[in-house]
Amino acid sequence: MTNVKSRFAPSPTGRLHIGNIRTAIITWLFVKSQGGEYMLRIDDTDRERSKDEYTQAIKEDLTWLGLTWDDKAHQRDREDRYAECIEQLKKDGRLYACYETEEELALKRKSLLGRGLPPIYDRAGLELSDAQKDKFEAEGRTPHWRFKLNHEPIIWNDLVRGEVAFHGKDMSDPVLIRNDGTPLYHICSVIDDIDFGITHVVRGEDHVSNTAAHIQMTEALGGNVPNFAHLSLITDAEGGKLSKRLGSLSIQELRENEGLEPMSIISLLSRLGTSAPVEAMMSLEEAAKDFDFSKFSRGAPKFDPQDLYRLNAKILHTLSYADVKDRLPEGIDENFWNAVKPNLEKLSDIDSLAQIVNGPVEPVIDDQDYIQEAAELLPSDPWTKETWSAWVSSIKDKTGRKGKDLFMPLRLALTGQQHGPELADMLPLIGRERALNRLKKSA
Ligand code: GLU
Repeated sequence: MTNVKSRFAPSPTGRLHIGNIRTAIITWLFVKSQGGEYMLRIDDTDRERSKDEYTQAIKEDLTWLGLTWDDKAHQRDREDRYAECIEQLKKDGRLYACYETEEELALKRKSLLGRGLPPIYDRAGLELSDAQKDKFEAEGRTPHWRFKLNHEPIIWNDLVRGEVAFHGKDMSDPVLIRNDGTPLYHICSVIDDIDFGITHVVRGEDHVSNTAAHIQMTEALGGNVPNFAHLSLITDAEGGKLSKRLGSLSIQELRENEGLEPMSIISLLSRLGTSAPVEAMMSLEEAAKDFDFSKFSRGAPKFDPQDLYRLNAKILHTLSYADVKDRLPEGIDENFWNAVKPNLEKLSDIDSLAQIVNGPVEPVIDDQDYIQEAAELLPSDPWTKETWSAWVSSIKDKTGRKGKDLFMPLRLALTGQQHGPELADMLPLIGRERALNRLKKSA
């Protein structure tokens, strides 16, 4: 293994979905392309919103996608370590106590904005005397703590965005400790990244300004500043923010309700927003090959669920019976699989095909005489792929019907539906006995 190490750091406050699984996938592919280590870090410091069932679900989703991890940590287990670092920052004068309420802060922001100024915190907390602090405490206020940024340029070479520049004086000192004493994500994340030897932080571009502060926090704690890659956020097909419906398409739904193949998700999300073509890939190794952050565009990639289904169909059509056997409904054998797989977009489509074959089917018969005649012409066993055309041509000879008039009544009688897979494929699966019974419903 190289010393490259990166992490995926979800908060267990909900299920993984299309929006946030992309980071997990891209981070994994990057790490593997470098022969490095992948860490799963559960950001569960928000005790109220974090749930064990979500942590469990995140692990299930990652496992299903094949995104194995080499190291893992729960922030909840590391509170002592955070307290130690926080003490150090206080001693070094990099954390200072502030006593403003939410309302007071909102007023300050409003007044600055009203004067056309950026709403940067005025550092009033830094000016407080001990007597003033005692007074606040006597009123029952407890402090929140801010990190004192150095007023100097903060510049990094982002692996996706190129050079990114901030200046400490243009930023508010970030709050790192809430007034109930609990540390915020920022400080926990920075301490973890230092302690676990994270060399590359890959995350969404909504974290870019956080990164500027994290760099100074890392330096204040004596850590090595990692490399950063900020991925642009996915939008919907029209370029708008990923709607709740699309953005919240959970991996669990895609797996359990839609029956999608994990590689369809990997194929799409690993290439979306890059200069490489989106194509069906069969393995994570294939997807990790030639991984390069320079292929990622800064523009917002558009997510269209149709692409997912298109890729899924392609992947499905390459799978053998042995690949899918365990996931098929009862009564589907190898013949069945091979006959119907070219018609499938997703594995769950097979349920309706199985129903057409195995029944129960409610035959729809309008012209009883015609169906009766067709039943009498049913070829004898054994039935093969050619049975359909043999049957159809004898019906044609006998009745003079052709085209839709000829086959639609047969389809409706045999399947109960106007649309469906090729009858040439289905007929041998339905078999003579069942076919005859359905046709005889007219009798
Ligand atoms: N828990 C944070 C999030 O989900 C992690 C961000 C990061 O990668 O540092 O946004």
